[in-house]
Amino acid sequence: MDHSPATEPAPVLNFIEQIIEEHNLSGKYGGRVHTRFPPEPNGYLHIGHAKSICLNYGLAEKYHGKFNLRFDDTNPVTEDTEYVDAIREDVQWLGARWDDREFYASNYFDQLYAAAVQLIKNGKAYVDDSTAEQIAEMKGTPTKAGIDSPYRNRSIAENLSLFEQMKNGDFEEGTCTLRARIDMASPNMHLRDPIIYRIKKAHHHRTGDQWCIYPMYDFAHGISDSIEGITHSICTLEFEVHRPLYDWILAELGNYQPQQIEFARLNLNYTVMSKRYLKRLVTEGYVKGWDDPRMPTVCGLRRRGYTAEAIREFARRVGVAKRENVIDLSLLEFCVREHLNKTAPRVMAVLDPLLLTISNYPENHTEWLAAENNPESPESGTRQLPFSQTLYIERDDFMENPPKKYFRLYPGGMVRLKNAYIIRCDEVLKDASGKVIELRCSYIPESKSGEDTSGISVKGTIHWVSVAHALSAELRAYDRLFKDEDPMAKDNFLDSLNPDSLTVSKIWVEPSLSNTQAGDRFQFIRKGYYCTDQDSQPGQLVFNQTVGLKDSWAKETNKR
Ligand code: ATP
Ligand code: MG
Repeated sequence: MDHSPATEPAPVLNFIEQIIEEHNLSGKYGGRVHTRFPPEPNGYLHIGHAKSICLNYGLAEKYHGKFNLRFDDTNPVTEDTEYVDAIREDVQWLGARWDDREFYASNYFDQLYAAAVQLIKNGKAYVDDSTAEQIAEMKGTPTKAGIDSPYRNRSIAENLSLFEQMKNGDFEEGTCTLRARIDMASPNMHLRDPIIYRIKKAHHHRTGDQWCIYPMYDFAHGISDSIEGITHSICTLEFEVHRPLYDWILAELGNYQPQQIEFARLNLNYTVMSKRYLKRLVTEGYVKGWDDPRMPTVCGLRRRGYTAEAIREFARRVGVAKRENVIDLSLLEFCVREHLNKTAPRVMAVLDPLLLTISNYPENHTEWLAAENNPESPESGTRQLPFSQTLYIERDDFMENPPKKYFRLYPGGMVRLKNAYIIRCDEVLKDASGKVIELRCSYIPESKSGEDTSGISVKGTIHWVSVAHALSAELRAYDRLFKDEDPMAKDNFLDSLNPDSLTVSKIWVEPSLSNTQAGDRFQFIRKGYYCTDQDSQPGQLVFNQTVGLKDSWAKETNKR
């Protein structure tokens, strides 16, 4: 039984595609479609960013347009090349191609400065010596108009000179800012003379100490879009109220004007998705790093074994909406499971071993059995599996006192060992505490898989490994990182952390995995999907649990 989530694929054209097609019909951008993904390099990308990348790149692809990667690096204090490199890797891994169009807002610092000077010359910007507190105070409230700064009517000449002094480092941080001169009574707070430049005497990861003034996001973003000839500047809903400012700046400058379009950001339950909070999880040691497989970061999901195809499919199914919503994490897991079902080779691994000896099988004999690599993909062929007298099976595939319709092993019962023989459980050995420590079984020699002439039919098939041949490995199993659907609803989201999100155990895997490489993905038959971790080495294998065979959370819900 598959628990397919109810979310349906998007309608034929989503609302952004409708806008684009209208533009293409009216000729607004000459039929061009040019999108961009504009991350600030102040953290690693998460699944929400992945959604935005898939959307922007997908639109460029669909309309035979172009896609830019632009680093919005206007705040030197929080940004770093470590993040630039990680972002580049993640975007590429997701399958988005930007060719030679990798840009940086910092490439445009000269142009942005010139634009600010032009606004001053037009009487549309002024240097304000008010403190941040004073500016906030004068800003008013949504229901109360703001008041003009005492510096608002400085002359153009004075503003030009002061702004140049700002640039030259003549003023200390916080002593003044450059503000757009728009309308202190505007119902839109973003138009109440927003700050467009501030002093920051900080080293920038690309421009070094060349600048000590940096443009604000709202100022830099539209101008960067305009310089790059972006047609559709797609962003999340919270920027809707910034759009009048975006348009105002470009109109005042007389620059080419892209169309900003807002969509609802991706929210996932049981997940925290702001870089600020993800960074805290890393720096305060709640996870092992940005790429901890429990993290909703692109690198964390990748390390967990999620595929780019699955993430793209997830983004497609989520679609684009104009209204905020919360997507069930199980939809992402469903997409991963579906892709891995088609692509992941099947192997045998025993997670919780119980010793099983076949009394009538020759001692010290190894038989190599053919095993199918993936029934969903017959062209993936077969491999050879060693079989011998002593095996491990899964402890929970045996029950001493089974209920009715128990098709696995019990005293006197029979099962098929996957790819091998039918066996019967003859004897149960226990230790002093009564714990079952070994099963003694007999096998039916004529029941070999593929050439069974025994005439015996059994209901259950279980997996196993040969003790003499199996490799021990470390398994890292994961549960959700947060206990609550909405961790941010807590006073402190850290209170929602699931203390059992990581379980490490020792498991046994078939020897064909001896040379597995980091990132290889498998189905451990009857157990779920797993991948080889980057910590894995020959002789010291390490696997991550990727996703279960079924939606285990749906089962939990049914139980309640
Ligand atoms: P965060 O709030 O997680 O720190 P951000 O918006 O500050 O993210 P940016 O680097 O500025 O991060 O984002 C780059 C792009 O990714 C922006 O266009 C933004 O709209 C988009 N984006 C960020 N989070 C999401 C999300 N949850 N869903 C969809 N798009 C998102
Ligand atoms: Mg941001």
